[in-house]
Amino acid sequence: MNDFEKRIAGSGGGLQSEKVETLQVNLGLRCNQQCIHCHLEASPGRKEMMEWPIMELVLEACKRARCQLVDLTGGAPELNPNFCRFVEALYQEGHRVQVRTNLTVLLEPGMEEMPEFFRERQVQLVASMPCYLEENVCAQRGPGVYEKSVAAIKRLNGLGYGYESSLPLNLVYNPGGAFLPPPQSALEEDYRRELHLRFGIKFTHLLTITNMPLGRFRTELARQNREEDYLRLLRQSFNPQTVDGLMCRHQLSVGWDGTLFDCDFNLALGLPVNHGAPDHIRFFKIGDLQRRRIVTGEHCFGCTAGSGSSCGGALV
Ligand code: SF4
Ligand code: SF4
Repeated sequence: MNDFEKRIAGSGGGLQSEKVETLQVNLGLRCNQQCIHCHLEASPGRKEMMEWPIMELVLEACKRARCQLVDLTGGAPELNPNFCRFVEALYQEGHRVQVRTNLTVLLEPGMEEMPEFFRERQVQLVASMPCYLEENVCAQRGPGVYEKSVAAIKRLNGLGYGYESSLPLNLVYNPGGAFLPPPQSALEEDYRRELHLRFGIKFTHLLTITNMPLGRFRTELARQNREEDYLRLLRQSFNPQTVDGLMCRHQLSVGWDGTLFDCDFNLALGLPVNHGAPDHIRFFKIGDLQRRRIVTGEHCFGCTAGSGSSCGGALV
């Protein structure tokens, strides 16, 4: 048992999943951005990309698992050459699809029709917007990102995203440094007011996500000599009320090469599912995966700190 498992102890058998409600699929590590906090170290130069034969296996798994949601992520998932074909196939099979977009990719050449494509397939959107202030967004995500993100949100608003209940546009906040997110609902109100005042834009909900001590964010912490302080903060902020809602208990992550992970953070660390559960989409069997023992580590304290954190925002 590692320290995290000892902390959540009770069952004695580590952390157990309950069901697979969401299948999160990482379509590749290429991204048009290179953010300083990226736990996957995605960038324009990355070559890793999910290929069609793996997508076919994912389609088959989705059919068998009857998941409530297929959540597409990356990198920038839209940059996968088979992205539209895959979304179309999921839609035709009747799956609810969510795309995690960085917004700026929607302004890249060749992406002109993507917002309409999303709307026609009722794709839900989760979009990165780590602050309502330009200087904070550009410090994390690069120069010009704020302006482009606002332009993309305006375009999506114009199509009904953020307005119609069937077209949710959720924004994602993450801290600009080694601290925990503020309370989600209060920050959501600040975002709503500021973004509407400044640009007249709307969104559905704000999701607050804690920076995980992984990838580029960890490198940056080490560079600033703040790694130990941040790890201590996460441990000291452990909140037992977050454990029931941990996302790994309700979802499964498929890597670009078909490897199965308990979550996107384990994917970043190269830690596939274990403890006897099948670890590749080729061997996908829902019965063997829905009640599996989850692979945990020190990074898991990032999900249980304060109000908790997941791809769906705060946990409590
Ligand atoms: S955080 Fe998102 S937008 Fe930024 S480099 Fe990583 S995948 Fe791309
Ligand atoms: S890092 Fe992954 S495995 Fe660990 S608690 Fe968070 S979601 Fe679960």
